[in-house]
Amino acid sequence: MESIQQNLLQRLADGRFHSGQELGEQMGLTRAAVWKYIRELRGLGLAVQSVRGRGYRVAGGLSLLDESAIHQALPENSRQRIGCVEVFTSLPSTSSYLKDKPVRPGQVAVCLAETQTQGRGRRGRHWVSPFAANIYASIKLQLSLEQNIYGSLSLLIGVAICRLLKEVGIQDASVKWPNDVFVNNAKLAGVLIEFNGEANGPVNAVIGMGLNVRMPPSAGEQIDQDWIDLDSLIPGVARHRNRVCARLVDTVLSVLEQSEQGGVAEILTEWRELDMLFDREVVLQLPNRQISGRAAGINAQGHLLIEQSEGQLVAFASGEVSVRVAS
Ligand code: ATP
Repeated sequence: MESIQQNLLQRLADGRFHSGQELGEQMGLTRAAVWKYIRELRGLGLAVQSVRGRGYRVAGGLSLLDESAIHQALPENSRQRIGCVEVFTSLPSTSSYLKDKPVRPGQVAVCLAETQTQGRGRRGRHWVSPFAANIYASIKLQLSLEQNIYGSLSLLIGVAICRLLKEVGIQDASVKWPNDVFVNNAKLAGVLIEFNGEANGPVNAVIGMGLNVRMPPSAGEQIDQDWIDLDSLIPGVARHRNRVCARLVDTVLSVLEQSEQGGVAEILTEWRELDMLFDREVVLQLPNRQISGRAAGINAQGHLLIEQSEGQLVAFASGEVSVRVAS
């Protein structure tokens, strides 16, 4: 993003009215140029009000992502593992950005964006990513081959997000296999894991996370299932978005470290305690058919166990499966 746009955003972040003339004088721009930049911000999805005689404002103000604030809020050991935290105003998707970025063994790359124009869920679904409202973060790292956690990585990240939520005071978050975090039966966060690498070589994982912090109602209308945001659970938390980002990244890194040190089974036990589908009648959507049964937790690989008739358990890997509570 151009620095002029960033400059304008920082001035509007206080939530107060600023006249076009005042902004123009402060930024060395004509009023017409200020108007052009305001239009661009609106194009990114930011609700900039304009009131005749008073000027422009963003009602409620903005807490903008700040690379150095996030970096400083990270504990030293995480800072050392992360080469750098890159923050963008707008990206097609944070995970797509990291896909081609090289990472050295033991190092992680972190990327955040204020908005994603092509935010993704699983299997081509869309992740609604309004501007300066939520957290859209991706982390890339190299997995060692012996660390066979491919099937369970999204579950491990779900546990990390629930640990973060507990830390900020939300005790009743749950996980929905394989990649979502729910509170009060509404989706608060989603995880998207993508792998790439060469045959017999190291495998890179890109962990994409969307965590709703303060969803504008107009953006929420675009989501076709129940959703919730952090600010409605903990009013005022949206002001601390940078700290929440830092805690999210740090919590994910510590779960990954625990898994590298042989703690996968332990983390999956924690996952089982958070399992919102456990013992419920569910419907599984497979590529060509539907299966009904009772959700019976997960196995050691993180596959979903479904009990069909006569107590028979069948395991499903996450790839092509979507699961819904039976209505
Ligand atoms: P699955 O069980 O297959 O994971 P899912 O519908 O939750 O099913 P995902 O790929 O995990 O699919 O997530 C994408 C879906 O999440 C979208 O289709 C939409 O219903 C919902 N969604 C999109 N953006 C958001 C958001 N910001 N907050 C909450 N939910 C969202």
